[in-house]
Amino acid sequence: MRRGNRRTGTVITLYHSEQAGLDSTQGEWAVVCEDHKVTQYHPTLMHARMVQSDPSEWCEQCLAAVKGGNVQPRRVSARA
Ligand SMILES: [Zn+2]
Repeated sequence: MRRGNRRTGTVITLYHSEQAGLDSTQGEWAVVCEDHKVTQYHPTLMHARMVQSDPSEWCEQCLAAVKGGNVQPRRVSARA
């Protein structure tokens, strides 16, 4: 489940820890920021999917990119 993140432009991949050869003792599911090589483990697929959608909450470098304006998040226009 690899996909580019709409907000940060980084590639965030969701892995099943054991199948991917990651440390499954830390959590059954792993979410990886491929751009910054940051891994976060989660006990449930639901949690992993939730954080996959916003890497700026757990990847410091994604957060820095968002804050620093290095990426251009798509703004939602309020105009009809
Ligand atoms: Zn990142």
